[in-house]
Amino acid sequence: MAHEGVLRRDGQPYLSHPMNVANILADLKMDDIGIVAGFLHDVVEDNHAVSIEAIKKNFGEEVAGIVDAVTKIEKDIFSDESLTKEEVEVESLRKLILAMIDDIRVIFVKIADRLHNLRTMESMPPEKARKKAQECLQIFAPIANRLGLGKIKNELEDLAFKYAYPEDYEMIKIALQEKRSYSENFIEDIKKQIMELMTANGLKGEISGRVKHLYSIYNKILRQNITVNEVYDYMAFRILVPEERDCYAVMGLIHSKWNLIPGRLKDFISNPKENGYKSLHTSVIGPSGQPFEIQIRTYKMHVEAEEGIAAHWKYKDGKGIDEKDDYIIKFREEIKEIVSQSGSDLASNLNRDLHPKDIYVLTPQGKIIHLPRGSTPLDFAYHIHTEVGNHCAGAKIDGKMVPLKTELKSGQRVEIIKNPSVHPSHDWLDIAFTTRAKSKIKTWLAQNEKILAIERGKEVFERELRRFKKSTKDIEKDPDIQEGLKKAAVPDIDSLYAEIGYGKIDARAFLKRIYAEEEKEEVHIKQGATRKSFPVPVSLGGESDYLFNIAKCCNPVVGDQIKGYFTKGKGLVVHRATCSNIKRLSELFPERTANVSWNEESNENIFEIPLSITVKNRRGVLGDVTSLVSSANADIISCDAKSLEKQGMGEKGIIKLKIVVKNKSHFLKIIDKISQVEGVVSISRNAP
Ligand code: MN
Repeated sequence: MAHEGVLRRDGQPYLSHPMNVANILADLKMDDIGIVAGFLHDVVEDNHAVSIEAIKKNFGEEVAGIVDAVTKIEKDIFSDESLTKEEVEVESLRKLILAMIDDIRVIFVKIADRLHNLRTMESMPPEKARKKAQECLQIFAPIANRLGLGKIKNELEDLAFKYAYPEDYEMIKIALQEKRSYSENFIEDIKKQIMELMTANGLKGEISGRVKHLYSIYNKILRQNITVNEVYDYMAFRILVPEERDCYAVMGLIHSKWNLIPGRLKDFISNPKENGYKSLHTSVIGPSGQPFEIQIRTYKMHVEAEEGIAAHWKYKDGKGIDEKDDYIIKFREEIKEIVSQSGSDLASNLNRDLHPKDIYVLTPQGKIIHLPRGSTPLDFAYHIHTEVGNHCAGAKIDGKMVPLKTELKSGQRVEIIKNPSVHPSHDWLDIAFTTRAKSKIKTWLAQNEKILAIERGKEVFERELRRFKKSTKDIEKDPDIQEGLKKAAVPDIDSLYAEIGYGKIDARAFLKRIYAEEEKEEVHIKQGATRKSFPVPVSLGGESDYLFNIAKCCNPVVGDQIKGYFTKGKGLVVHRATCSNIKRLSELFPERTANVSWNEESNENIFEIPLSITVKNRRGVLGDVTSLVSSANADIISCDAKSLEKQGMGEKGIIKLKIVVKNKSHFLKIIDKISQVEGVVSISRNAP
């Protein structure tokens, strides 16, 4: 009644659309409520002939709820004219997603609606079709993928691809058509060979072969920056067998017949994907060098791969959707997290996080972890556990220390080095790739912002204090400081540190006001050197990778003779063997000293070394020193220069640098360069 007399663009009665949508839902094993909602999904929207109230009265609350949500989603997307086009899209997308996860059936109705629209999009104006299709690729295909609806996801992608990027679609389609007779013969031939192989070994099963779906070929072209003619493995076979052990048996046979392509073997049976997907994947080089892909799975796994969550609840006593199902709960949490953590990047975050081009890496125990392509060791750490992420001090890939920002690749073994004193910082947000890791980092930062500010502020304050030859101990009871706090309107010293840390109070100016006598003429340079530090493995009696701290008094680097000392607070602290402190300590507490050596394999280390350079005052001497340090590939973290003239030191000056070096030879090279600068009198490694 609601759609009576209304026609679709292609001339069909409008009724054909809701009927087809309901049909798709029935294929998905949707429950009766969901199917009824599919029939009714457009009756309110299109001509307001029917009210939500009327639906509630006739079909019940649940059906009305779903129809209401589906209607609002469509209406909200384009109706609010006070927002810019982009805001409309982000805001409505946010609403849409949140409305959809309230009742999981809303998603199914929307997906079925979009799928049927795509199937019948021929007569839509190209611009409108393009927009709808892009929405599908960005939002609905990833969601379908996350719900494990493999078959629907592929159809959505291929149909949407055609309208979203028509030229690219045509190009790939034509290229594949040219190879068509070759592919068809090849597929038949390989199917026959696999079947013979299986039969000869007493294995039963079904084999199908196909050209991969166009959108996946398109992605491969984009990802690897190749032309369509350079895509060689565009054919894929699927072998279905009765039992899990048959999967492995068949894979063994395949590998004994054809050479496998290294790195392409994936066991999603022992390590299913996040969405529950199980299968064995391998790629081999077939006859005449033609590569192809093979997926091997049981019949049951196949149903699950095609129907995902739908198969999942079908096996659950046939009771239909259970909102308390772990699968649904987990899905909902994941989506909520993405929505709450995203701004205008919501669509791309959804696309990336729900539809990842997976890579897989291994834990040190050999467990496989799937992560989206682009993930770093930090994402890995947060994937393992929030605590591992929050204290991630460094990472090793295949046994080698790497910077945290290194992009992970499939097959790598990743080990996270934890250090309880390490915690997240703002630059981690640039290192992390996944929304999950970013959100954990943001949460930590929000909770600890003040603590961090205090830490940062205290550090700055102490450094400035040293200019006035004072330490924090001296100032605790200092009435001048108390007076200063009052003037700055901060209640206590921690609040002062926080204000300094937030950059609201300038520590030097604060102290100047209090101790304004012998302020020297100073230059203060800060170069924007970025630095990621991580602990360095040392061996202790054959035990490698001991967590330790570098002694601040002597700053050893790889290559220096070293000695360890067990402190109460900081664990093992490593000194240079010649350091006067360790000499004194080892006489006092011989039982707490230890012989340690560097783990020579790790050459990716980073050490922060303070240097004091005495120079004759000469115009440009500072510039010469810093440019030589930079030319030796060392970052300068900080640089202070001051003239000693007023202290009766004639025409001398002192340059204090904090530099980042890799190891001793790197360090010596830098020292050598600096000592060649005209006017340099002496270089001291310890901060005096
Ligand atoms: Mn519709």
